[in-house]
Amino acid sequence: MIKQLVKNTLSFAAGTLGWSMVRRGNKKLIILMYHRVLPENDPRYQREEPGMVVSDKTFAMHMQTLHDEKVPVMTVSDWLAQPEITRAPLTVAITFDDGWLDNYEFAFPVLKQFGFRSTLYVVTDFLGKPAPFWPNKVLQLLLAEGAQPTDDWGPLLRLIDKRISLPLSRDEAARVIDHLKRHSDHEIYNALAAIPAKQDSPVEMISTEQLLDAKAAMGVEVGSHTRRHYRLKEGLSETLLQEEIVEAQQILQEMTGAPVTTFCFPNGDFSEQAFDIVKAHYSAAVTTMRGINEDGSLNPHKLLRIGVHNDISDTPMKFKAKLSNFF
Ligand SMILES: [Zn+2]
Repeated sequence: MIKQLVKNTLSFAAGTLGWSMVRRGNKKLIILMYHRVLPENDPRYQREEPGMVVSDKTFAMHMQTLHDEKVPVMTVSDWLAQPEITRAPLTVAITFDDGWLDNYEFAFPVLKQFGFRSTLYVVTDFLGKPAPFWPNKVLQLLLAEGAQPTDDWGPLLRLIDKRISLPLSRDEAARVIDHLKRHSDHEIYNALAAIPAKQDSPVEMISTEQLLDAKAAMGVEVGSHTRRHYRLKEGLSETLLQEEIVEAQQILQEMTGAPVTTFCFPNGDFSEQAFDIVKAHYSAAVTTMRGINEDGSLNPHKLLRIGVHNDISDTPMKFKAKLSNFF
């Protein structure tokens, strides 16, 4: 009870005082990071980790709040292309990571209504696919009713490296996923590729046609988020880095017939080598480092963002507190 009261008071202070402070001083760019936008009663909402999703209602409220507060909304590229002198004291950019179909279904129509542009960071190999990220796939395998490992599971079981008896509980499966993170994404995807996919998984990623429609008719800028969402940590070969960073850009440019100039680091990870390749091929890149970008001190290839999900932003006051980066 008291805890809730303190929390509400802090949120109120951040949402009023913090919000008025953030609008003073150096010119600032707040980049919001969204993943999925879904109605709460959609089965996809229920299947997703809470930190990955905002409801369609919450998202619309966020946009209404930006509109009411008269904050200009533009893409990172447009903001960077503006001469410093003409920039507003505070600007917001809206970004979506991964290329989820639900962004096209539930977020872009709202943005269009407000006349706000946004950027969708797409994983090119995943376009038009069922939820393709390895944790989703591993979860599906481990939690499936009546699942029994076959010989095809050999490579995956070697990576898991301990005895498991199926089906696992959610907690046990989460521990296996944590354990798997010691291995590279490449190894995990290779192990999963040996296991035949179930045919009935619904498509959850945006398709090429939808992406082109979003770009042409909904003011969406297409950005690159690699080919396979590999975390660009130390130890990835030069070939893999080229595929993830440079090929992904070429694929998107051919697909859209337009330059693709911004990049998003999967999971926010990058080695020095990966960073240099990104810098050589893109004019800007966003990270998962939290913060507000200020004129004069920002690095266009290490842009800070503020992650938003439903629990922490479901009232205008909480949303403004989040924008002010107080918590
Ligand atoms: Zn991502």
